[in-house]
Amino acid sequence: MNDCIFCKIVKGEIPSQKVYEDEEMLIFKDIAPIAKIHLLCIPKEHFAYLSELNDGRRALLGRMIEKIASLQAELGLKDGYRLVVNQGDSAGQTVKHLHIHILGGETLPWG
Ligand code: AMP
Ligand code: ZN
Repeated sequence: MNDCIFCKIVKGEIPSQKVYEDEEMLIFKDIAPIAKIHLLCIPKEHFAYLSELNDGRRALLGRMIEKIASLQAELGLKDGYRLVVNQGDSAGQTVKHLHIHILGGETLPWG
């Protein structure tokens, strides 16, 4: 999508601090962290909402979560982490390209 900031990150048109990349997903540092460790995991394919899942995207979402779990220690999250997916304006979704927030590195609310 032309005006999507995360698509621009995928295409390398704006910089990001990548910590993991493969052919279908990217994990990079959030530009305005709200936790000591705050990463975003995004699919390279543009879609905004969980309501747009189809078979392929559902499987991809599973692989994204599996990848995050497999990188837990490498990402500095061995003491625990939280995954958050904001959906829609009232949930505070500002970027309409699906993303999983990965939060950790300190005691979080509910912790
Ligand atoms: P959300 O509010 O769930 O849509 O989250 C969007 C997140 O994207 C926010 O935490 C922003 O700080 C983050 N963000 C926006 N622009 C960038 C960028 N260029 N690089 C990294 N993170 C970004
Ligand atoms: Zn996008």
